[in-house]
Amino acid sequence: MQIKDGFSAEEIFTTPTGYAYNDFIILPGYIDFAPDDVSLETNLTRNIKLKSPLVSSPMDTVTEAEMAIALALWGGIGIIHYNNTIQQQADLVSRVKRYENGFINKPLVLSPQHKISDVDMIKARYNFSGIPVTEDGKLNSRLVGMVTNRDIDFEKDRTKTLSEVMVKDLLTAREGITLSEANNILRTSKKGKLPIIDSEGRLVALLSRSDLLKNREFPLSTKDEKKQLRVGAAISTKDESKERLAALSEAGVDVVVIDSAQGNSIYQIEMIKYIKKNYPHIDIIGGNVVTEEQCEMLIKAGADALRIGMGPGSICTTQTTMAVGRPQATAVYRTARYSNKQGVPVLADGGIANIGHISKALSLGASTAMMGSMFAGTNEAPGEYFYDNGVRLKKYRGMASMEAMEAGGNKRYFAEDAKIIVAQGVSGAVMDKGSMNDYAPYLLQGLKHSFQDIGVKNIKTLHENLYSKELRFEIRSAMAQREGHVHDMYSYKEPQFM
Ligand code: GDP
Ligand code: 5GP
Repeated sequence: MQIKDGFSAEEIFTTPTGYAYNDFIILPGYIDFAPDDVSLETNLTRNIKLKSPLVSSPMDTVTEAEMAIALALWGGIGIIHYNNTIQQQADLVSRVKRYENGFINKPLVLSPQHKISDVDMIKARYNFSGIPVTEDGKLNSRLVGMVTNRDIDFEKDRTKTLSEVMVKDLLTAREGITLSEANNILRTSKKGKLPIIDSEGRLVALLSRSDLLKNREFPLSTKDEKKQLRVGAAISTKDESKERLAALSEAGVDVVVIDSAQGNSIYQIEMIKYIKKNYPHIDIIGGNVVTEEQCEMLIKAGADALRIGMGPGSICTTQTTMAVGRPQATAVYRTARYSNKQGVPVLADGGIANIGHISKALSLGASTAMMGSMFAGTNEAPGEYFYDNGVRLKKYRGMASMEAMEAGGNKRYFAEDAKIIVAQGVSGAVMDKGSMNDYAPYLLQGLKHSFQDIGVKNIKTLHENLYSKELRFEIRSAMAQREGHVHDMYSYKEPQFM
């Protein structure tokens, strides 16, 4: 039999040396398809599918509602951080879930006695202002009118009651209508909203024209069966999380990440069992882990996916300070090989600095890539831009940096009750990357080109080729790494993104 050029992942990653993404390269395959033939569909967890393998880190400088919405629209998912109160985190989840709908089954409703200022408050919080008006201001009460932006945007007196400004002559549809029938009415009627009523004229649901547009504009969107965007939220292994879980579940969270720097603990195992028992509809991402033995413990406890990484993060000092962790490429290969056999997908978390690193993580068996620094400079990340020497920047900090821990973010490191706190991360800044609506499609297109060079059309085939040893790799020497980057130029301009 002909010996294949290059080396299998097994040959490289089961040696005594641990490798980082930059240490190795993937050898090219055979191209007989275009980049657009590549599908990046993947599994986040056992049960949740994504059309793009992009996940944002649960960090207070990365993921709140705006980031989670943007990523879900582009086929990925955001994990809302928990360096906030239970109410704040549940509100952020709820904002993502409310962003897009099929039937809006619990629309916000007001009564004729409410004021325009009440609509203003809803607008400020949720960014919509199409409000059905019912007799007693509740759902399942008789529909008497509808207020939309157009009825109130030029009205100076915000204390006017809705009965004075609402539209009473309404186009409605009857309960029982299918979503596609109702959508057709919206398409042809040119109305912005379609209230759905029962035989007694009571409001039971609402449909919004803007959802048809969002659906057309973002065909990759990650949605649940109600056509709402999917969203994740982080919790700790602390007892407080039980209360948090109740609020997150009520807000409609799809998946929780148990956020722990060293996931193989009795606290996490008990938390996984608690969630499985009390919230069987919520998927659990356990972690963080980097060895097969750690994976075994969490999979046995019931984790639906595992988050891989201990110390590779751009803001992270764990490996230096704690002397514990694992180089990320080796960690991803070893944990994915073990977990994928049990049908459990893994997320490669941390250390991803460019498209090539995402591609490498997937090539080593990861199903998704979780990123912090890659997304922290975008418009959708929390925080304001600032300038340093004319460069536009945004703050990015580790959740175990002194700064984040002082703001309450030390739950991840079992350090909450400690008298002396040892930091495991730094705070700093990253460069402006513009909007996720430009950046996410750029990353996805880059990944498709990478897959084309590898010669595979999807992540499933990539993983099959990894384990059949069809996929070939090679270690890069220090000089090879230098050669593989821009060199020997007098000057050059870095591309905006890589
Ligand atoms: P509006 O015309 O100001 O109401 O806003 P848009 O029509 O542009 O956006 C409404 C968006 O918010 C749609 O995607 C709805 O699915 C979503 N949404 C979620 N919950 C509600 C709700 O209770 N009422 C309304 N009107 N929209 C909601
Ligand atoms: P990045 O994408 O910036 O390289 O890494 C993000 C990941 O770093 C997060 O998803 C999380 O796993 C990890 N992380 C976040 N904050 C800290 C921290 O303060 N210390 C350590 N050790 N890891 C962190």
